[in-house]
Amino acid sequence: MRKILVPLQLWLKLMYGLKVRGQGRRESGGLLLCKQGESKVSKIVFYDQFDKSVSDSGIIEFKGAVFLFDFLAKENLEILADIHSHPTNNTSQSYSDMQHPIVRIKGHIAIIAPNYAKDFIMFPKHCSAYEFLGELSWRKFTKKENSIQISVF
Ligand SMILES: [Zn+2]
Repeated sequence: MRKILVPLQLWLKLMYGLKVRGQGRRESGGLLLCKQGESKVSKIVFYDQFDKSVSDSGIIEFKGAVFLFDFLAKENLEILADIHSHPTNNTSQSYSDMQHPIVRIKGHIAIIAPNYAKDFIMFPKHCSAYEFLGELSWRKFTKKENSIQISVF
């Protein structure tokens, strides 16, 4: 599992993008991307760039995987983590979240932001983060681990 280093302006762009897309009434999500083998986030993308209907049902239902992986191959980028918002302070993974990791690779990190990402101040410690352990199993990071694992600089 790699540490995730996020430049402040990209983190703010990510939170703003989730908030604008969620409009306070639906989940939205995106991906933290890096160059092959690196730990520093170099690009943020949102699911709706690959699937316009991703948030139509209110929860994330991403059907743009083919376009996404094509994009990653072309840009020579890989996924460091995914993130999506939840309606309330409850940032526990839903059954669907656990069943459908965006990347089925051990060590993949999924982040959940509370309150449709509307909060004025929102950093990794305000979110929950989970490490994919394979099969359907995940490990939740403590709040302290969140700040260590995902550092905004
Ligand atoms: Zn969820």
